[in-house]
Amino acid sequence: MDCIFCKIVKNEIPNYTVYENDAILAFLDIHPMAKGHTVVVPKKHFELVFEMNDSDLCDLMIGVKRAMERIQKTLQPDGFNIGWNSGKAGGQAVAHLHMHIVPRRYGDGGGSMHSIVRNQGDVDVVDVARLFT
Ligand code: 5GP
Ligand code: ZN
Repeated sequence: MDCIFCKIVKNEIPNYTVYENDAILAFLDIHPMAKGHTVVVPKKHFELVFEMNDSDLCDLMIGVKRAMERIQKTLQPDGFNIGWNSGKAGGQAVAHLHMHIVPRRYGDGGGSMHSIVRNQGDVDVVDVARLFT
């Protein structure tokens, strides 16, 4: 499969590793949004979270925490944004699921999760809530 992150996992493409264990590899993003911007990839290829079982997902989350601990110790950021772009509409460019760890600093000019999109349309929250009942 022609997947750039699988190639990184197999060491066919070099990376700057932040943290690694049997299940995940965390490495510096080549186009960092902030100093220490890291991506955490499961070593198995999944495109979307729906393909992962709970155990693989736990391993990924634990890997995210371990990588955050390393970044915290090394770079001492003031905070983080953690998340992933899921699907093309969500901005996913690499079709191998990966979590972004973006270290944040006071005054860095960035926003929060709430700055990703502002387009709730004219549907009330209550109407959306009804769809879940
Ligand atoms: P996405 O938009 O899919 O969530 O993000 C993909 C991320 O992978 C981007 O932030 C991009 O800079 C990073 N990336 C893409 N190719 C490479 C690569 O070959 N090496 C590294 N270290 N990062 C990459
Ligand atoms: Zn892959």
